Amino acid sequence: MTAQKTLRSSSDLIAAGLVPADRRGALEEVAARYALAVTPGLAALIDPGDPRDPIARQFIPDPAELAWRPEERADPIADEAHSPLAGLVHRYPDRVLIKLVHVCPVYCRFCFRREMVGPGKRRALSAAELSAAVDYIRSREDIWEVILTGGDPLVASVRRLRALARELAAIAHVKILRVHTRVPIAAPEQVTRALVRALKAAGKATYVVVHVNHARELTAAARAACARLIDAGVPMLSQTVLLKGVNDDAATLGELMRALVECRIKPYYLHHVDLAPGTGHFRTAIADGQHLVRALRGRLSGLCQPSYVLDIPGGAGKVPIGPSYARPAARGCYEIDDINGARHTYPPPAAPGVPADAPALKAAARRAG
Ligand code: SF4
Repeated sequence: MTAQKTLRSSSDLIAAGLVPADRRGALEEVAARYALAVTPGLAALIDPGDPRDPIARQFIPDPAELAWRPEERADPIADEAHSPLAGLVHRYPDRVLIKLVHVCPVYCRFCFRREMVGPGKRRALSAAELSAAVDYIRSREDIWEVILTGGDPLVASVRRLRALARELAAIAHVKILRVHTRVPIAAPEQVTRALVRALKAAGKATYVVVHVNHARELTAAARAACARLIDAGVPMLSQTVLLKGVNDDAATLGELMRALVECRIKPYYLHHVDLAPGTGHFRTAIADGQHLVRALRGRLSGLCQPSYVLDIPGGAGKVPIGPSYARPAARGCYEIDDINGARHTYPPPAAPGVPADAPALKAAARRAG
């Protein structure tokens, strides 16, 4: 059955034929704790006959979400500790986040802000709070980039987004407006030409970073929504969460990265899952993530390579955790792995004033060979 409206309860999921009726009790327990929404477009992608369906796994509640492991945290990347004002996070010197709203068109079961997003959690920023956030940005000249995040900022009205983009455009030191969103995937029809125009801040560069985890999410409608943004001069990047049972194999991940590049979307981040409550069943080992990233490097174009990153629990920031291909070796040389796993030695830089045919360099070159 094709859903006509967003599914927001276990009854909706059962009526749509996405879960059997005997799972109602278990689903309701999870949905009472964490927000539930599946848009018609994403619901249509789910194969109810496949117990391992990667789309269902991302959006249909699972009793495993009620298991809160000791290492998990309500605020895994410590937004609160870096929030000088309501709705504003200032973690890095040159950029800030504005969390305009705390709702999304769809709720991911692994969401890193799951304790903050959803109906009944935090409310949208008031006009006064947003104005205070803009004043904060205006008063700090080292803020170069403003990132709208959430919840999903594209849930806000076109009028509100246009007004905010105009206010930010008027701040000379702000050069970049970046929007993190799942709307082009979850509700592509909402990416209207009016919305696209609203996001363009005059004289600044607007980037849209779309959250997508599986190639199946890039439906014809989603691709068309992304094309509306890109054709209007808005470059797009992607962020993907590495999720056990969704995309944790090289073929699935590679297919997604290629599909993104074919849509003119540059793969940007591959996130290791944050330590949000009840998400342990999605978490891979970092070593497995590194292995996957190596496999991608070996088989796909450089355009298809995202940066594998971890937001360090506790708010110390995001760092790359991909495999290293270079290790220091003897006498200033480096040992370098190629994509097939073979090792090579790279010589040290030439010492100033030493002729290129000096014996030490010759010896290093021999070792490198
Ligand atoms: S779209 Fe982003 S903020 Fe919203 S539920 Fe998914 S991960 Fe969380």
